[in-house]
Amino acid sequence: MNEIKIHEVGMRDGLQVEQQIVPTETKIKWIDELLKTGIDIIQVGSFVHPVKVPTMADTDALFKHFTQPGNKPEKVILSGLVLNEKGLERGMACGVEMFCMGVSASDTHSKKNTGMSTLEALDRIIATAKTAMSAGKKVQVSVQSAFGCGFEGKIPEERVIGIIEKYLENGITMISLADTAGHAHPAQVERLITEIYKKSDDVNIAVHFHDTYGLGIANCYTAYILGVKYFESAFAGLGGCPFTAKASGNVCTEDLVNMFNRMDLRNDIDLQKILEVSKEAEKFFAREMPSKLLKVGTLK
Ligand code: MG
Repeated sequence: MNEIKIHEVGMRDGLQVEQQIVPTETKIKWIDELLKTGIDIIQVGSFVHPVKVPTMADTDALFKHFTQPGNKPEKVILSGLVLNEKGLERGMACGVEMFCMGVSASDTHSKKNTGMSTLEALDRIIATAKTAMSAGKKVQVSVQSAFGCGFEGKIPEERVIGIIEKYLENGITMISLADTAGHAHPAQVERLITEIYKKSDDVNIAVHFHDTYGLGIANCYTAYILGVKYFESAFAGLGGCPFTAKASGNVCTEDLVNMFNRMDLRNDIDLQKILEVSKEAEKFFAREMPSKLLKVGTLK
């Protein structure tokens, strides 16, 4: 029974911050390899304006390729990030299976990212989520900067809870807590997630940690112990955010899967296959990646 679900976000969260554009054929190769690892959900890209983030300009083309019959295993879900209604339209047109979207709990981060305050952005995102849900799509909403902000520092927990209550009131139960700047620590994760579970029995929490201060895996473990089943991570430990201060890579997929593998929770995911893609990324960007497993290999 695979209770734990891994959502690979490297192709989006990882590649969006890179200066060097990965050619579409290389992206197809990497996604193709990731599809064969046993990972549950793969985020293909973001429907952001191609001029604003040129590394994501081929997102539509990638979806068109992978939604062709035979180009992906049935059980793997392909997700795409949308920022607004326009993005949703593009995603609908090219076969996105799961739409991810969200708001930042930090007004400063929200304004830099979207030009809107948190509350303005929230209304727009809820409307977009409802449109996608009524079209029969899987939808996951997020709260970015849920554990702290690179610009504002501490984010009051009531602010995060307030956003989550709004999502829940609108019938949106798949909710991702994103630690965009990587400020979270395990006691904070425990406090916030415990509060959210008190609000709803139906809520399905996902976590998205960045490893800025080396606490990513500890935060994932804490979330797991509390009952969280959805984990977002990036192969090789790629990642960051172009619109936040001082954010480093996402939790590294192979390091996270290694933990769940050793805990006998996900023995079915092929670590070697993930490592092969991470090696290719390391070679492509010609720099050492944060992945621990890439350095030491898997335990025999
Ligand atoms: Mg992120």
